[in-house]
Amino acid sequence: MGNNRETDKEFLIQFERINRGVKFHFSRGVGFYSSPALARLEGFDHGFTARSGGVSEGGFASLNLSFSRPENRENVMENYRIFCRAAGVPFETMVMDNYEHGTTVLRVDRADAGKGYLLDALPSCDGLITNDSEITLITGHADCMAFYFIDPVRRCIGLAHAGWKGALGKIGARVVSMMQEHHGTNPADIIAAVGPSICADCFEVGQNVAEEFAAAFPDIPCVLERAGARPHVDLWMVACKQLYDAGVSAEHISLFDVCTMETDRLYSHRRDHGNTGGMAAYLRIVQ
Ligand SMILES: [Zn+2]
Repeated sequence: MGNNRETDKEFLIQFERINRGVKFHFSRGVGFYSSPALARLEGFDHGFTARSGGVSEGGFASLNLSFSRPENRENVMENYRIFCRAAGVPFETMVMDNYEHGTTVLRVDRADAGKGYLLDALPSCDGLITNDSEITLITGHADCMAFYFIDPVRRCIGLAHAGWKGALGKIGARVVSMMQEHHGTNPADIIAAVGPSICADCFEVGQNVAEEFAAAFPDIPCVLERAGARPHVDLWMVACKQLYDAGVSAEHISLFDVCTMETDRLYSHRRDHGNTGGMAAYLRIVQ
């Protein structure tokens, strides 16, 4: 064994067959993507917003759900009210991530409701877990992946924001271990999905980033070398691999299979050169 660890062939066979699928629908003018694999589970509600139906203008048009962009805060608050009505989410139940492209995952409950919009933000975190049906987990996105986790046995959930740094740091595995630790989850029971994000064809990276991925995931071909061009990284493969290694079975992992950069109805930080808004992923337990 040298630096090149043997390829994880079993994983690659499973990855070839990984579930891919998405539903899209409008509710009160707001577009929502969802995963059929998650929607099938009773007692949970989830989705991922598109950019229509809100009050923001210009590059933020129109359902900008990011407070961290240079926009009128009241517009974003109004967009959240619109989102909540459209999704059937009670406005005061949301708990928002406070992302720093790290791997910190926090366990939250009803005492945290309102954090990030009505109340002070949570400490820096990119992932949230809970078993409290009184709150709605929210993470913000604009090319970065959303990782959804549902444990229908222990009735607990997790949601994470995973940009390339979080994916590299294996935040997905961190969510699984937090669910194990706090809620007694068996990883084999988890149903997981990866939301819309930048796809491998669109995600060009510098040599340094490519090398970091090759080092962190030596047993899968997640770095795609392009002749005469910059390398690409397959974040969806990286996402599935870290969940699989954490004990989530491949049949329980789904990809929305939607690229933010190629889809006009989504914001894309990279496509829009930063002059853009943000989408929200949400996940909650419904009694
Ligand atoms: Zn793409």
